[in-house]
Amino acid sequence: MPKPTVLVSGISGFIAKHCAVECLNAGYGVRGTLRSLQKAGEVKTSLAKHADVSRLEFVQADLESDAGWSEAVAGCAHVLHVASPFPAKQPKDAQQLIRPAVQGTLRVLRAAVAANVERFVQTSSTAAVFYGHPRERTAPFTEDDWTNVDDPAVTAYSKSKTLAERAAREFMARERPSLHYSSVNPSLVLGPALDRDIGTSAKIVQMFLKGKYPGAPRMSIPVVDVRDVARMHRLALETSAPSGGRYLGVADTLWLVEIGQALRDQLGDAARRVSARELPDWAVKLVAIFDPAARLAVPELGKLIRVDVTRTRQALGMEFIPAQEAVAVMGRSLIELKLV
Ligand code: NDP
Repeated sequence: MPKPTVLVSGISGFIAKHCAVECLNAGYGVRGTLRSLQKAGEVKTSLAKHADVSRLEFVQADLESDAGWSEAVAGCAHVLHVASPFPAKQPKDAQQLIRPAVQGTLRVLRAAVAANVERFVQTSSTAAVFYGHPRERTAPFTEDDWTNVDDPAVTAYSKSKTLAERAAREFMARERPSLHYSSVNPSLVLGPALDRDIGTSAKIVQMFLKGKYPGAPRMSIPVVDVRDVARMHRLALETSAPSGGRYLGVADTLWLVEIGQALRDQLGDAARRVSARELPDWAVKLVAIFDPAARLAVPELGKLIRVDVTRTRQALGMEFIPAQEAVAVMGRSLIELKLV
């Protein structure tokens, strides 16, 4: 028996393309939503290099509009709701991210309930977990932690992810639909880029390889490989765990300087422009006076983000690809795609 069709929202995205490959290779049909069907050809070409695309189809839908979502979910057994704006720069108006993230999630969720979809997996983020906590906290983060959106240092993006996940969980608690809901909350997602539309998280590796960083700020970043994130989405469709699961995707936490080190260790001459230096905090604070991106880094300086994913590992049976490998594989793919 062929497996049923899974709707993947935002199939043009870095993570969503991997989710589509994972589902197609596991025998599911995949219907992907796009804001514009003009992207369908290039997405299909990318996926065809990694999976049989005879059960791949596309529909048009935008998170900011009701149009298209009931047609998108019709006949699908499951939904992976991956789409959400993830810009490299924070907008002045946080609502530019919060509105599509929250209203879009509720649109897709309502359409899924109306179409008797069985399982709904939301791609949330550890941005909905790690931020707005006291600086002196040393306890590892777990599935029980939530970002405090009232903290003024929390970014528009982190707010959008926290509020979107909360909105979905509140909808589930209030409406009690029969659909099975869970969220996958990845940290910084690296690993292989499938094509030149690389998304935002790849930019950090791209900038390192291009020699754009004179040194690494003293920041720690939990990392996960995109192939594991895709696997987590498929496992969330298949797990016998009850509805409501919250699965953290974290292989390991690396200091930024260790990301550079992994590139230098594994990519040889291709990583010759990667700086080996760690920047002193005062230098980052000085740059932060002029540079909004550096300003976002200041509250994170010197903070080791520790994460305990034991529960996720056990619930989904996950073993994560090591973080250094995710870094190096992403670097290699960017070189092969001639993006550095
Ligand atoms: P990408 O930018 O590659 O993908 C984002 C996707 O969302 C694109 O397909 C984009 O479509 C779509 N999208 C954005 N706005 C809208 C909208 N208004 N209507 C419909 N679709 C829209 O990012 P990623 O693949 O990295 O991110 C995918 C998901 O994973 C997001 O929810 C993100 O928050 C989450 N995530 C990502 C992490 C990472 O490190 N990469 C870490 C944790 C979570 P289009 O191609 O038209 O722009």
